[in-house]
Amino acid sequence: MKSISILGATGSIGTNALEIVRQFPDRFAVAALTANTRAAALAELIVEFRPRIAAVADADYADQLRTLLPADLDVAIVHGEDGYVQAATCEAADIVLGAMVGAAGLVPTLAAIDAGKDIALANKETLVMAGAIVMQRVRERGVKLMPVDSEHSAIFQSMAGQGPNRIREILLTASGGPFRERKICDFDAITPAQALDHPNWSMGNKITIDSATLMNKGLEVIEAHWLFDTDFDDIKVVIHPQSIIHSMVTYADGAVLAQMGVPDMKGAIAYGLSHPHRLPLNLPAPDFPRIGTLTFEEPDLERFPCLGLAFSAGKAGGTMPTVLNAANEEVVAAFLDGRLPFTGIHAIVDQTLNQHCRASGTDLDQIIAADHWARETARSLIRRQEC
Ligand code: NAD
Ligand code: MG
Repeated sequence: MKSISILGATGSIGTNALEIVRQFPDRFAVAALTANTRAAALAELIVEFRPRIAAVADADYADQLRTLLPADLDVAIVHGEDGYVQAATCEAADIVLGAMVGAAGLVPTLAAIDAGKDIALANKETLVMAGAIVMQRVRERGVKLMPVDSEHSAIFQSMAGQGPNRIREILLTASGGPFRERKICDFDAITPAQALDHPNWSMGNKITIDSATLMNKGLEVIEAHWLFDTDFDDIKVVIHPQSIIHSMVTYADGAVLAQMGVPDMKGAIAYGLSHPHRLPLNLPAPDFPRIGTLTFEEPDLERFPCLGLAFSAGKAGGTMPTVLNAANEEVVAAFLDGRLPFTGIHAIVDQTLNQHCRASGTDLDQIIAADHWARETARSLIRRQEC
């Protein structure tokens, strides 16, 4: 029996993870659950899964949550960053699923590592912001860090059992998103509703917009750099619109190993939680005769400049990826609110990066300062273009 603390339980990854817990009650229990503001949704999950700790964003949401729960339920309701840290370090937890969206995941994830918990990580922003710090703590504490992002799970699976064999390159696949074939001159007219309509995957709003700009793939390049200790020059992005091959690894002899499956995050989540065991999930395998053709293309960096920005920020290192991530979170929120056109996303991330004085990013205070600076800078650039 493995007890899981789920950070971001009400989201797309969290909900899929809880479906797996429902399907395998003899294998998994729930130690802690967190949400941001959706107290009612969290209350239902608490009643069903009986965690020891539940955390929400602030004291008001915590009060709201208490009124929604039976008085005799034995659960500690906590809030704020301290509350998330308590959930992440909960004594009863064997493994922490990082499924919060954005920078909010960093401090609780580091606390979980410091507490010696194994981590199943979906929250890629944590590695983009502070990959050097996270990986160093993982090594120092000797905990297991399992990728949950489907591409990184695929790479991990394609590396299993390869021993010291030399890797030539990692091939990260990308669906290309909803605008792969749209004319570049029409990009300014893209609405949030169009960008939220992903062709293959059903995900939270932030990552869906990141998939439409290809920033998601850029964040994943940086995530792969840290998880697999691979140079940026040895990480390639391949557009694969069918989303059947989740990523590939090329070895020294030219052999390419790939992991395939239907586009459903339950596969990668379950593998992250139960490695090295594969659970009998009720997922179909790809129906190859029906699919017929798998296709591959080069990414178009002119139409999707966010991918190039992420490669550059990753190569520059230090606090540059932190700034990329923070500015991106701000511009995505502004785009979703209708305050920024689609093409403003890359433009403002680019301007923010250009204004940043890079620091080494080896201590957490520097990372947090760079994150705050980038948010302020991006916000003021967004305000300026609104005038
Ligand atoms: P989501 O928006 O559906 O859910 C996010 C969860 O985090 C919710 O439970 C929400 O309450 C919580 N949350 C949001 N803001 C928070 C804050 N400021 N503080 C604390 N909690 C907060 O997002 P998602 O699609 O489930 O994605 C979660 C993470 O997993 C992201 O980092 C994303 O990039 C990554 N990921 C998601 C998918 C997917 O298929 N959804 C695939 C790969 C990676
Ligand atoms: Mg992914």
